[in-house]
Amino acid sequence: MDIILDLTDESILTPYVYPESLSPKNIWRQLCSLTILVILGGYALYLITAAVNYYLFFDKRLLQHPQSLKDQVKQEISCSTRAIPLMSFLSVLMFLAEIRGYSKLFDSFDETRLGKWSIPLYSASFIFFTDSLIYWIHRGLHSRFFYKNLHKQHHKWKVPTPFASHAFHPIDGFVQSFPYHLYVFLFPMHKWTYLALFVFVNVWTVSIHDGNYKVPMRLKEIINGAAHHMDHHLFYNYNYGQFFTFWDRVGGSYRNPSSFEGNGPLKDIEEKEKRT
Ligand SMILES: [Zn+2]
Ligand SMILES: [Zn+2]
Repeated sequence: MDIILDLTDESILTPYVYPESLSPKNIWRQLCSLTILVILGGYALYLITAAVNYYLFFDKRLLQHPQSLKDQVKQEISCSTRAIPLMSFLSVLMFLAEIRGYSKLFDSFDETRLGKWSIPLYSASFIFFTDSLIYWIHRGLHSRFFYKNLHKQHHKWKVPTPFASHAFHPIDGFVQSFPYHLYVFLFPMHKWTYLALFVFVNVWTVSIHDGNYKVPMRLKEIINGAAHHMDHHLFYNYNYGQFFTFWDRVGGSYRNPSSFEGNGPLKDIEEKEKRT
């Protein structure tokens, strides 16, 4: 995050916003700048990614599903825009620790023996690490107490659209993103790789809510895609995973997506149309 902060400091904040006497290393200045940057960045990333996905990939027939809500897209956007400020502020505290030097992020490939190989290797490790933690956190959020008080809000959307991707209770959203922050305090990673992965996980979160089930045949068994996550929204206690089906298979919560078997939400819509 210090890449973004440094760029903004140089181009806008130092010349136009803060007084000269306030050093860019001042913790309160950093907290204030990060809060604004992360909230605005969060809104931009959510709205742009979800809108592009909605217009290009989302199957609009799903809006006619019997379990879709009236004005659902509007409600999802409203829920997300209310959640993003607090969700972002909790992330800001993690980013602040990161830019104050407590993480294992590094600036140059000279700092690792792996060199540029660290990009694919650390990225794979990041995906596996966060996928494992998110599975168990998400499963915990389905326990009676946490479901009722936090996670229920995200399951209001039985047939989600891409705009449901960030429509959480803010604490729920932060808790599920916590492994992405934690990783860099435990393992090394190049700063640009981390930034790219942060954008990637946001795009992925939107993509598993887009109702587009076109996963390459060979990966259907391995990747936790939109079809798996759709069944999570419809049937609750299955397919908690984020990227892979591995932990659902190990944890006994795997369910072959109904749409892979020809019984998905589009079939419900066809049947509804036949009846009317
Ligand atoms: Zn859930
Ligand atoms: Zn979801």
